[in-house]
Amino acid sequence: MSETVREREARLPGAESSNPDCGACGSETDFDGDDFVCEGCGIYFSPTTMAASFLDEDAPACGAPCDNSWHRTGAIKPGMSFECRACPLPAGHSSLHWTGCEAVLAAPR
Ligand SMILES: [Zn+2]
Ligand SMILES: [Zn+2]
Ligand SMILES: [Zn+2]
Repeated sequence: MSETVREREARLPGAESSNPDCGACGSETDFDGDDFVCEGCGIYFSPTTMAASFLDEDAPACGAPCDNSWHRTGAIKPGMSFECRACPLPAGHSSLHWTGCEAVLAAPR
């Protein structure tokens, strides 16, 4: 006795929509019913704007300085440097530090 197409369809798995990835650590966020949460970074994202906020607004900042040696002036390209910043995530976050350094191109002469 062979299955009908409908019977086979009924056994197929449904698609799973995935949550957005945390902009700081890149891991998939958890949806808590209101927001997309990244526990590792201690932040959550608004489902409408994807803007990040701290889970605990009173937590002190991690403040780890950027240690990317490629951010030294001219390390990637001559004249290219980075505006390095400290990690803004809450102290004790379990994800990697995120500094969000911005590349700065030397002004053309
Ligand atoms: Zn994260
Ligand atoms: Zn940097
Ligand atoms: Zn950090």
